[in-house]
Amino acid sequence: MIRVDRGGEPGELPELRRTELDRFRVVFAAKGFDRKELGDRYTEVKRLLWQRQLFKCCYCEKICEDVGNDLEHYRPASSYWWLAWTWENLLFACPNCNRWAKNDAFPLADDTTRLRPEEAPPQGEQPHLVDPATENPLDSIQFVLDSTSGRWMPRPRGASVKGAETIRVLELDRQALLEIFQRYVEDYVMDDVKHLRALMDAGDEHAVRKDWNHMIRRALQRTRHHVALTYDVFDHFFPEAERQRWGVVLPRP
Ligand SMILES: [Zn+2]
Repeated sequence: MIRVDRGGEPGELPELRRTELDRFRVVFAAKGFDRKELGDRYTEVKRLLWQRQLFKCCYCEKICEDVGNDLEHYRPASSYWWLAWTWENLLFACPNCNRWAKNDAFPLADDTTRLRPEEAPPQGEQPHLVDPATENPLDSIQFVLDSTSGRWMPRPRGASVKGAETIRVLELDRQALLEIFQRYVEDYVMDDVKHLRALMDAGDEHAVRKDWNHMIRRALQRTRHHVALTYDVFDHFFPEAERQRWGVVLPRP
């Protein structure tokens, strides 16, 4: 997961929010939350988020199409229905992360601080779920090479409780995703790592710098799949002390 920039809200959203909230308040008063009543007027909003997120799921960084994938409510509509049309609460996500993993979960540091209806966030809420639009997910989640399985696994960075909860709620360590991560590293990252290591072993300082800059810029392009994973793979094989020795930089996505 990397930070996403959703930019300003689309011009039609304030009017949509007004009319949909007016309608939904009546529905909610009559029968409580009903997902079917959220309506299907999100198409254009979802399409814009999809484009601004460079066609990637905001959580697992898979590139996918807009149709068939989800408009995600960071604070779930089931318990925060009044934020269901609020731009700052909307993201584009794949159904594996959104529907099948996260669903209605929204863990907090303290459950007694949960917003009451119509309250604007955050009040006293401290979400234990990374919001990629307002914070850098790399602060909370780190990919590490598991020595037993030989696999790249998302883990909380340091002792980040938020990172641990985010991985748990989104099931970022689900089996299929781990296989995709593994394949990606082997097919798209390791050739660069091996090439750079060979140049370092040969002591060719000029070539190291030249190829490092070129390869890192390409590898960490935000349009690529799994940029956070790629960053941590390079950080693992070329730790900070070694980068300093060669005078090269690994920019944080
Ligand atoms: Zn996803």
